[in-house]
Amino acid sequence: MTDSNQTPIRTRFAPSPTGYIHVGNVRAALFPWLFARGNNGKFIVRIEDTDQARYVEGAQDLILDTLKWLGINWDEGPQIGGEYGPYIQSQRVDHYKQWAQKLIDKGLAYADPYTPEQVDAFRAESKAAKQPFLFRNFRPENPPVWDGSMPLRFKVGEPKRYTWHDPVMGELSAGPEALDDFILIKSDGMPTYNFAHIVDDQDMEITHVVRGLEYIPSIPKYLSLYEALEITPPVLVCLPHIMAPDGKKKLGKRDGAKSVTEYKNEGILPEAMLNFLASMGWNDGTEQELFTVQELIDKFSFDRVQKSGARFDETRLLWMNGQWIRRLDLDDLMARVDSFWPESAEQASDDEKRQILTLVQDRLKTLADLPMLTDYFFSEPNVDLSMISGNKQLSKLDRAEIVNLLTAAKTALSCSAFDPSSLQATLNQLLESTGQKPGILFSLIRLAVSWAPFSPALNDTLSTLGQEVVARRLQVALDAFAE
Ligand code: GLU
Repeated sequence: MTDSNQTPIRTRFAPSPTGYIHVGNVRAALFPWLFARGNNGKFIVRIEDTDQARYVEGAQDLILDTLKWLGINWDEGPQIGGEYGPYIQSQRVDHYKQWAQKLIDKGLAYADPYTPEQVDAFRAESKAAKQPFLFRNFRPENPPVWDGSMPLRFKVGEPKRYTWHDPVMGELSAGPEALDDFILIKSDGMPTYNFAHIVDDQDMEITHVVRGLEYIPSIPKYLSLYEALEITPPVLVCLPHIMAPDGKKKLGKRDGAKSVTEYKNEGILPEAMLNFLASMGWNDGTEQELFTVQELIDKFSFDRVQKSGARFDETRLLWMNGQWIRRLDLDDLMARVDSFWPESAEQASDDEKRQILTLVQDRLKTLADLPMLTDYFFSEPNVDLSMISGNKQLSKLDRAEIVNLLTAAKTALSCSAFDPSSLQATLNQLLESTGQKPGILFSLIRLAVSWAPFSPALNDTLSTLGQEVVARRLQVALDAFAE
C-alpha cells in the first residue's frame, strides 16, 4: 500500500531514555517501521533526552538493544548517524534556538517573566471565575527581551477549532479550549517535547508521526504551532493503548508489563514477539495469525489498525512462540537454545543434544522449557510418586497393578530391539498382553523412566534413553512401589 503523495516516506521512533521499552509501547516503533519498510521509505530513531530530570543512565542502550533484538533496524539515528543528524535532541539545541528566533521575529513567542507564585495567583483567579486556567489570558503586556534566562512561550493565534484526519482514529477535532501559550524553551535552555519534536520532525523531513493515543489532546496545540511556523504538518497517527489482561486499563509497567528483553531471557523468539505485537490490534482482514516479518511488511497498513485497545494476552504469545519454534530448522534451533540447556547437559555431545532437541522441538513453548523437558535425558530423575496420584487415570490403579504392569514392561523391553519402530511394536504387544489402554500403560512407563510432566512419543523417548537406562529406571520405580 503506498500513499498517494510522492514524497518519500520517512517515519521515526522517538523514545525518551527514561527506562526500558515495555511491551505496551513498542508498537510505536514497530508500526512506523513496518510502514516505512513496506513503502520503500526510511525509518529514523531519535533520542528525546531534553527532560534531564527523567534521564536514566543506560536506558538509551537498552532501548536500542531491544530494537536490534526485534530486528527493527534504522536507516538513520544513534550509532549510525545520517544526513539529518544529530539524532539526539540534547545535541540539537541550536536548531531549536533558530526556530524559536523565527517565532520571536514574527512576534509569536515571548519571554515568560512570571514567578511560580504569580502563576499560582492566575490559577486561583481562573478558578474563582470558574474558568479553565489558560496562560493566554494572562499574557504580559510588555514582556522583557528573551535572553534565555526565562522560559520562552508560544503566543498562540486566535483560538479556533482544529479538525484533522488520523489514519487510525479517523476524523478528529478539538475546540479552542485546547489551545494555549505553552512553553517552547525552558529556563534550563532545553526545549519542551511540544516544541522539539515539531522542529525535529520538520528538519528530519518526517512524513508520518506515529505515537500513542495520549497525544491526541495535545494535537490542536501542535497544529497551532505548525501554523505559526508555516510548516505543513506530517500525517499524525495515534495508536490505541494496549490494555492490561483484565481489559480495563492501559497496560503499564505497574501492571507487570515486562520489558521486551525480559521475554528474550524467558525464551521468546523475536519472530514470535514481533508477530504477537503486530497482531495486537492489527489484522490483515483474514483469519491468519502467524505472519513472517516479510508478510507483516507487505501487508501492514494503518487503516487496519483497530481503534479500540487490544488486550494483552500472554497465553497467545506463548502459543505463537511454540508455533515459531516448530518452524525453525534444527541448526537454527540448536544455536538459539545454546544458553538454555539444563546444567546436566554440560557433558553431553552436540550430537546427543541435537537428537534430544529433535524429540522435544514440538513441545517447547519457550526456549526456557528446555530443562524441564530434557533434564531426565542427561541425569537420573528423582522418583516422584505424587505424579502418579496426581494423574487422573493412574491414580485409579492400586500398587499391585502398577507393580505388575511395570514388571511386564521391564521384561518385554529387556528383550526388545531399541530402535523406535521395534520399540513401537514391543509396546503394542504389551498393550495386548496386559489388556491396558495406552493412556494408562504408556503414561505409567513414561513417568517411570522420566518423572517429568511431559515427554516426547514413548518409543522415541525409550530409544534415546537406551536399553540399559530404561531397565535401570524401571527397576528404581519398582523398588519405590515395593517400599
Ligand atoms: N519522546 C516521546 C515519548 O517517549 C515520543 C513521542 C513521539 O513519538 O513523538 O513518549
